[in-house]
Order: sequence, then C-alpha cells, then structure tokens
Amino acid sequence: MDRFVDRSTLGDITADVVIAGGGIAGLSCAAWLAADCGLRVLVVEKDDHLGGRAASCLDTATGDAVDIGPHVLTSEHRNFLALLERVGTIGQVHWQPDPLITLLDGGRQLRMHAPRWPPPLHGLPNLRNALRCMSWRDLMSNMSIAWTAARLDEPGTLALDDLDAESYLRLHGVSGRSIDWFWRSSMLALLNAPLAECSAAAVMRVFRLMLGRSGYYFGFPKVALADLYAPGCRRAVEAAGGHVQTSCAARSLLATASGAFEGMLLEGGRIVRARAGVLALPPQALAAVTHDTAGATLNRFANGAWFKPCAYVSTMLWFDTKLTSECFWARVWAEGDLNTDFYDLSNIRPELPRTGSLIVANAIHADEAWTWGDARLVAQTRRELADFAPAAAGALLRHSRVHRIPMAVPCPAPGTERLRPAARTTVPGLWLAGDWTATGLPCSMESAARSGALAAEHVAAAFGIGLRRALPPPSTQWPIAALTHSGSRR
Ligand SMILES: Cc1cc2nc3c(=O)[nH]c(=O)nc-3n(C[C@H](O)[C@H](O)[C@H](O)COP(=O)(O)OP(=O)(O)OC[C@H]3O[C@@H](n4cnc5c(N)ncnc54)[C@H](O)[C@@H]3O)c2cc1C
Repeated sequence: MDRFVDRSTLGDITADVVIAGGGIAGLSCAAWLAADCGLRVLVVEKDDHLGGRAASCLDTATGDAVDIGPHVLTSEHRNFLALLERVGTIGQVHWQPDPLITLLDGGRQLRMHAPRWPPPLHGLPNLRNALRCMSWRDLMSNMSIAWTAARLDEPGTLALDDLDAESYLRLHGVSGRSIDWFWRSSMLALLNAPLAECSAAAVMRVFRLMLGRSGYYFGFPKVALADLYAPGCRRAVEAAGGHVQTSCAARSLLATASGAFEGMLLEGGRIVRARAGVLALPPQALAAVTHDTAGATLNRFANGAWFKPCAYVSTMLWFDTKLTSECFWARVWAEGDLNTDFYDLSNIRPELPRTGSLIVANAIHADEAWTWGDARLVAQTRRELADFAPAAAGALLRHSRVHRIPMAVPCPAPGTERLRPAARTTVPGLWLAGDWTATGLPCSMESAARSGALAAEHVAAAFGIGLRRALPPPSTQWPIAALTHSGSRR
C-alpha cells in the first residue's frame, strides 16, 4: 500500500484509477472498480477522515460516535443498499416497516402508513389523519396536481424545471392549507428547500413516486453512519491492491497534449498518474480542482450561484432518562419552527445505554438559525422535543452538541435540475460523480451511491470491462404507471 505514499522522494504515483473525494460517491465508485473489476484504485480525500457529508466522529465528552447529522435510509435507497450488501454491512440497518413515520402536528401525533397496496390506494390509511388537519375541500384541491403527476414522464418533469414549486402548485389550485400542511413539510424533508426555492421538476419527480409507489419504509444506521460503508469500501480497495489516502487533497488535473486525462497533482506536490480519473466532489470543490486544466465545460458546474448550498444545523442532546420509545418523528411545517426531523438513537443503536435518550434533530435550510448561539439552538430544540415527549422539559440534560453544516446538499433551485451533469465529461478519461450529478434522484446518499456506480461503469468500460452495477431510480407502479404518457402537463 505504501507504494502510493512515498513522501521521502516526492516521486510520481501510479494507479489504474484515481478518485478525488472520499464521500459515498467516491467510495462507492472505488469499491465497485476494485471489488468487481480488480482495478488498482487510489482514493484521495482532503479531510483527515472519510465520509464527507455522511461522516461520523467521536464525541469525546461521552465516548459516543456521532454523525455529522442524523441520516435516514429508505427501502428505495437501492444503490446504497447494494453497496452495503457488497461490502458486507447490510445487516447494520435498523428497518422500521410500520408506521412509515410519526408526524407531530400541533399537539397531535399522527401515525402515517405506506402499506404495500396498489397505488394510490396505499394513501387510504392516512386519509383520516389528513382530514383531522385539513378539510375535504383542501384535500380535493390536490386532484389536478395528482392527475398531472401521475401522467408525467421524465422529459415532461424536466420541462417544469424553470418554474418554482410554490407557484406551480398554486397554478394547479392547491389550497394554502394543503400547501402548508403537506407540501411544505414533505418537500423540506425530502428536498431540503422551501417550496418557493424548489424547482417544480424536482418536486413533481418526488411527488410522482409518493403517489405512484407503495410499500416503502425507513431505516437507520445501527452503527455510526460512516462505519456503515467507509471501512468496507476501504477494505475492498485495499484487497485489490489500491489505497485510500486521507488528508490528501487533489489540487489540479494533468492532461496530455491532446487534452486527455493523465493524472492529478496532489496537495504537497505529489503527482498521481492514472489511465482514468473520477472527480467525486461537491460542485463548489470542483472549481478549485479544474480551474486551469479542464477548461470551461467542467468549471461551469462550479458556479456557486447555480448550486446554492443548503445549510443544516444538527443538534444532539444526551438525557439521563428515557424520553421516548420512538426511533424517528417529524414536525409538520409551522412558521418559526427550528427542526424538522427528530431521532432517539437510544432506540436505534444497540451500543447505546437504554437508560437515557440520545436525541438528534435536523434544522433543514437553516439560514436563519445559522447565526444562533449553541445555547439558543439547544433550548429551542429541547422545547420542540418536549412537544412530542413532555418528559424532556424536566429531564436532566447531561450533554449537548451542535453541528453547523454549510452545505448538506445543493438546493434544488429552479433551473438546476437541467444543469446536473452526466458522469461523462468532455475530457477523455475523466468522469464526475456526486449526489448532485444527473442521477434522476434528489441529492441524497442514494444519489451519491448511484452516481458512484454510474462512474464506475464508465471507467470499467474504458478498461474493456463490462460492469453493470447502477440500479435505475424507482418508477411508479401499476395502475399509476399505466397513466404515464409523454409530454408535460402544466
Ligand atoms: C446533516 C445531513 C443530513 C442528511 N440527511 C440525509 C438523509 O437523511 N438521507 C440521505 O439519503 N441523505 C442525507 N444527506 C445527504 C447526504 O449525506 C449526501 O447527499 C451525500 O453524503 C453526498 O455524498 P457525495 O459523495 O456526493 O459528496 P460528499 O460527501 O461531499 O463527498 C465529497 C468528498 O470530497 C472531498 N473533497 C473536497 N475537495 C477535495 C479535493 N480537492 N481533493 C480530495 N477530496 C476533496 C470532501 O472532503 C468530501 O469528503 C444529509 C446530509 C447532511 C449533511
């Protein structure tokens, strides 16, 4: 393994493939290329740990592993799950088949379900709960948008990209109450942005699946999030003679006289030469690496104005007593709320003591809360927690921790769906990966895993190896699938 890291000589390094970025996208690409193609892969990661936006670390005060922020998987994270299967950690997911989710609306706890019934009948068990929160009239105001969504195909969906989702819903007659109760809450949780700042294409793609697929459910890592995939991917790479190097940033690209990929210049002056390269970086980081070598085609993706970061604030609270028996719940959107989703990790992670609760919560699109001090964030999170678990108000808070994450995902702003780039670049021998690339999925661990598998297929083909590992995004089921037709409906 040390042939890659010979700091004494500063000599060139060689590998079959060099991948910049040790998040899910880069590691999934590396694992498939190493484990299934036997290629010698070098992964370089600028941080001193792997995982990127799905990283974990140790909380030294408690000795507990904590994540950058809580993450959920769904049964539809099929590429991510295939990766876990490949690296042997699929059993480390705690699945919650039912209820789908518990919602907190005012003082009410609503258990929502997604039974395996033909869609849209799977929505029927939730009708009673919905009608406790809005009128029949509000509910029926969704008929036109539901009919449109059921009939949209992918090109028709993309044609809506320039519109913002809030205007689009109003255009379809969706009532204000329905927008507030259903659309704001669900799309903030699934797409990480307020409706007015979301592309109608991104929203309709997700809604089409909510309407047209049944039987999906959530799962949670039973171990630290990064431990779910990073050590397994690293093992796969090393078993094939490759290496994963942390604290090692890619600085720029090297190209042949004809403009083909030749290698990367690393921080510190080392050069790695490889037949193929993959940039598995967030859009903002891509600019720094491609500034002078890969030309305008790659650089245009790094324009921050196009892929605006969505900030998260994650708050973690250690209580001395058990507060809930739930794994996961979410607040229905309300003006002035801080957090969206809450988790009690003591009900998920077997290594945590069952005598107290470790609550973690996400404030999504946290522009306003970004400047709040820790004490204010903790106090507000505790108040919101007590709405669900009243015992939280009087329980002893042993310890707290706040993570401010400048970019959890790029915002799906109007116009950005069409800008998401394919894996193939204009530079021969160089591919892109990352949750924000064109995967047909919202930016997520699943999108990152699929992008890594797609890039791996391209790289493998360049080595003359037929690799098929990328699984397609989920599609609607019968009878909704039968309604889909070409062309958009506005
Ligand atoms: C708090 C939070 C909650 C989330 N919740 C969920 C959830 O519930 N479900 C879900 O599916 N997704 C969730 N996500 C999103 C998910 O984590 C991301 O979509 C996914 O991790 C992105 O992976 P990636 O590999 O595409 O990018 P990244 O994880 O950003 O990986 C890119 C890597 O490149 C490295 N890098 C940057 N520049 C260089 C360089 N020059 N050289 C070398 N390396 C470099 C970075 O350090 C990073 O490690 C959440 C994200 C956050 C932050």
